[in-house]
Amino acid sequence: PSLNHERSRRKVENTNREFWYFIKSELNKLKQLAEETLRNIDGNDEWRLKELQDLGDLVFKRLDYLQNPKDCSTAKKIVCNLHKGCGYGCQLHHVTYCLIVAYATQRTLILESKGWRYASQGWETVYLPLSNTCTDRSGSSIKHWGAPSVIENIQVVELPIVDSMNPRPLFMPLSVPADLAERLSRVHGDPSVWWIGQMVRYLTRPQPELADDLKRTKHRLEFKSPIVGVHVRRTDKVGVEAAFHSIDEYMIHVQEYFDKREMIEPISQRRVYLATDEPSLLTEAREKYPTYIFISDNEISKSAALGTRYTDASLRGVIVDIHFLSLSDYLVCTFSSQVCRVAYEVMQTLRSDAANNFYSLDDVYYFGGQNAHNMVALENYKAKHSKEIDLEVGDLVGIAGNHWDGYSKGANRRSGRSGLYPSYKVENKVMVAEMPTYPEADK
Ligand code: GDP
Repeated sequence: PSLNHERSRRKVENTNREFWYFIKSELNKLKQLAEETLRNIDGNDEWRLKELQDLGDLVFKRLDYLQNPKDCSTAKKIVCNLHKGCGYGCQLHHVTYCLIVAYATQRTLILESKGWRYASQGWETVYLPLSNTCTDRSGSSIKHWGAPSVIENIQVVELPIVDSMNPRPLFMPLSVPADLAERLSRVHGDPSVWWIGQMVRYLTRPQPELADDLKRTKHRLEFKSPIVGVHVRRTDKVGVEAAFHSIDEYMIHVQEYFDKREMIEPISQRRVYLATDEPSLLTEAREKYPTYIFISDNEISKSAALGTRYTDASLRGVIVDIHFLSLSDYLVCTFSSQVCRVAYEVMQTLRSDAANNFYSLDDVYYFGGQNAHNMVALENYKAKHSKEIDLEVGDLVGIAGNHWDGYSKGANRRSGRSGLYPSYKVENKVMVAEMPTYPEADK
């Protein structure tokens, strides 16, 4: 090739690259400006934090009231067990669904957990008992979950796994309780996730030994803000329920988070908490990204679990990982994994509105077994080709997925058509369901 040819080839390449840098930098500035203006500059952060804490305390008090009836022998009960054949995150979500049903039907949740695959002695190996007054499942009448008319006067109701639940009430996720909906929608970007997070928080109140361990581990790992939590799910999940993603795909978003934050404040160290079931990944990440500090429980989990009550180290490992992911300022992960979804839920209970503090490489947030997840159109849209769909203001669109490129895919309930539409033209439709309001809990 001639000198001229090579020169012009490089010129095209450079122009392309520089133009891209320019666009990217301009977009970043715009994005940052918009976020800052909308969020912090209004000075309402303190109010948000306080309001969410108050709401959280209210839910906590109600659950405490529900879970500690004065007379267990006459209390109405929901019975669940921990034998669902799946991982920790999936089992925790199973218990979460049970607690939501318990709350919505005003029945005390009895959790049967002896012989749990993660700790044969059960739930209380790591978490506080769900009740101080009522852990006995017996009662005068017992039935499987069914229509309200069938179970109304039954004392003990056994719940199936969520996929077999029939009938499926309106109060199932992603619904939030009607009496909290207005306050929650005002203060939080995703009320359903906050609500589910409160359930998880109640369920996973740590035993003193676990609380100590978490505190010691935090110190040992030098876990501190600013920090991004990265969860990389590999092994049995890859190719079956999720695609393989290289560490680079996660790090693009980690870098973006820090770059953005650095525009507001100097950052001397870029920390990443790395949680993964792939043991070799920590070394790979450190080699590829030497300017980042990677911390991970993987390095110490075996020794930290020695001499404790854990049946095997894997329970401690996943609890610790979820804990530190939820404490991170930002999460980068795949929402196809229940581990990361739990971390995202818990994250909402620990700070002001953190609905946007994540990047998922695949799914949008969901709760396994949820009722339809609808978005509502804020603006009209005319489809530009056959793969797209029209929107009219107010249309409900059942979302199938966000392609994270400005477009989402879904089904317009009005027109019955499925296809792509611009993600910014819709917002979450917060589902609301009547649930008991627990006036007695406030006394
Ligand atoms: P999912 O399969 O990723 O949706 O989540 P599950 O929690 O249902 O099952 C995955 C299981 O793999 C977890 O419960 C853990 O036992 C293990 N696991 C997955 N990712 C991690 C991780 O980052 N850290 C640790 N310690 N364990 C993990």
